Amino acid sequence: MTAMRILVVEDEPRLLRNLAKALREESYAVDTADAGDDGLYKAENYDYDAIVLDVMLPRLDGWELLARLRKQKRTPVLMLTARDATTDRVRGLDNGADDYLVKPFDLTELLARLRALIRRSAGDGRSEIELGDIALDTRSRSVTRAGEAVTLTAREYAILEYLALHRGEVVSRTTLYEHLFDENDDTLSNLVDVHVFNLRKKLGQQLIATRRGQGYCIET
Ligand code: CA
Repeated sequence: MTAMRILVVEDEPRLLRNLAKALREESYAVDTADAGDDGLYKAENYDYDAIVLDVMLPRLDGWELLARLRKQKRTPVLMLTARDATTDRVRGLDNGADDYLVKPFDLTELLARLRALIRRSAGDGRSEIELGDIALDTRSRSVTRAGEAVTLTAREYAILEYLALHRGEVVSRTTLYEHLFDENDDTLSNLVDVHVFNLRKKLGQQLIATRRGQGYCIET
């Protein structure tokens, strides 16, 4: 679906690399951590759209990380468990995990579960979002206006989708940066404004309102 911001906590270097690469190819912004304490620090200090969390981790295991995180935050968590053990599954869901996958898993499956998690947490189980004559399909990442396909860049789409999932709310530029750019990005700070300018050219001036000093909003 999207360029939202994901944290992957996994200590196996190759799996971590492959996961981060696959997620970036899907236009997610990806932060990584290879130990539990580092993962918890990032999870507490950044506002992720979802966290992919391995169970067996050095210094702080996935269960403990999850337990501590849940005292503060409801960030959707997809647990990666090593064994196909019912007890693990029950434990994970009891402790506030939103979903789990047993290793070894299929990457396509992981991506599908993540999309579903993010949609659920945004309070929208559907893949179609309608905004007047504009329609987004979050599964195919496509947009139409009055039935005609509109071509957006990956960043433009990501901004539009984030605002659409949070329609009725004012979304600050800071929030957009946090969700769309990862820790390796070093982009000019006015870039979001440029993308919004281009979105308005393609989709109409009325779609995204600017709230001066506060951010952007798609009205419901
Ligand atoms: Ca591990």
